[in-house]
Amino acid sequence: MKKLPLHVKIMIGLLAGVIWAFISSALGWNEFTTNWIDPFGQIFIRMLKYIAVPLVLFSIIGGISGLKDMSKLGRMGGKTLSFYLVTTVFAVGIGLVLVNVIRPGDFIDEEQRIKNRLQYEEWVSATDGVEILDGKHYLDDPKYNGLDFRQEMTEAEKKLVEEKKATALEKKDEGPLSFLVDMVPQNIILSLSNDKLMLQVIFFAIFFGVCLALVPDEKAVGLKSFVDATNEVFLKMVDIIMKSAPFFVFALLAGVISKMADTPGEVLEIFKGLASYSVTLVLGLLFLIFIFYPLIVKTFVKSLTYRKFFQKISPAQFLAFSTSSSAATLPVTMECVEDNLGVSKNVSSFVLPIGATVNMDGTSLYQAVAVVFMAQMHMVDLSITQQLTIVLTATLASIGSAAVPSAGIVMMVVVLQSVGLNPAWIAIIFPVDRPLDMLRTVVNVTGDATVATLVAKSENELKED
Ligand code: ASP
Repeated sequence: MKKLPLHVKIMIGLLAGVIWAFISSALGWNEFTTNWIDPFGQIFIRMLKYIAVPLVLFSIIGGISGLKDMSKLGRMGGKTLSFYLVTTVFAVGIGLVLVNVIRPGDFIDEEQRIKNRLQYEEWVSATDGVEILDGKHYLDDPKYNGLDFRQEMTEAEKKLVEEKKATALEKKDEGPLSFLVDMVPQNIILSLSNDKLMLQVIFFAIFFGVCLALVPDEKAVGLKSFVDATNEVFLKMVDIIMKSAPFFVFALLAGVISKMADTPGEVLEIFKGLASYSVTLVLGLLFLIFIFYPLIVKTFVKSLTYRKFFQKISPAQFLAFSTSSSAATLPVTMECVEDNLGVSKNVSSFVLPIGATVNMDGTSLYQAVAVVFMAQMHMVDLSITQQLTIVLTATLASIGSAAVPSAGIVMMVVVLQSVGLNPAWIAIIFPVDRPLDMLRTVVNVTGDATVATLVAKSENELKED
């Protein structure tokens, strides 16, 4: 067991967690799992999260202040953002192609779809095509429960959907430049203490790093070595935590899955109703993970064969799958990208934190597939213009999504509204969202690692085997 590579051990932990969750629901041990196993999963996420923020702060400051030539920073920034944008738009495109070819919405019973269509028309006339978000009305009135399984949502889940819609609505009311304003911290201590404000931390760290580089060496030297040493300490913590990752991943998955449904049958039932949608989405996500990323990496970096690429980044991928959070996975992504893929610290400390917050290819693909699927199951045909609007809004919405579990479904409200669909529809796919969130987070993290490798290669900052 000791000799097995870490990613294999993590995979064993992951599988054991899934198996445990099913056994525990079948035998009625869910309470035991929740009380005695799940807390270790929570501890794991907490540890990763408390490392993520200081690591981002110190690694960006260290990386940037160490740059000899500031024009390199501008160049790297330009490349990073362009690569991120191109991959995201590509992901939305793949999603749209798949969902238009497979047409998962058509798999839903026709009678049901006609009912859905009528409901949709009623909604349009009630709202005059202008969106209202009366979540309660649509969720609680049985007449509006398009699909039966929606009635199976627990009270807690309904509350969560309501909360999510409220947050998304708040977002919608902001002006076009609010994203710029949101990027600038007004109190760095507040930004550091809120994991939704990671972009503000990044903004501060870049600016601080640039200024530190501009301060004369004799004055800056003490601070620079403090920053470097602190960074090393946090990396050491990641190292140590990762040694026990297989156990923690087991606890995390056992907890998450046994909370998802009380009996294994229930999980499968929920999936059946949405099988065509889930399969389409999974196909798209797997395409990105197994074909798209390794292919571009291999095209630009010959030495990184398919197998090597996965071997090197799989610990981050497994962790993304177990935590459903790119932010919590960030410390490990950084470690894999630096130590295994050979990307220099300068590049990884700049590219990855930005990627974890703004680059979410999996999330954007998911939003495209989900929105078109929901339109199809309501017999609503989306025009080319509407589909292009989806490309734009899904790209923006994925940039705006926080790197935490379920962030993608919150932002989907914006995408639905942009093409005149009912935002309350998010309730339809809510029951299967968590497992799909796990997979799209793997895509998000793999995308970040891929772009980091490309930027490093183009800047001659990649140590190849
Ligand atoms: N959980 C995803 C992430 O952290 C975001 C999403 O919900 O799509 O990358």
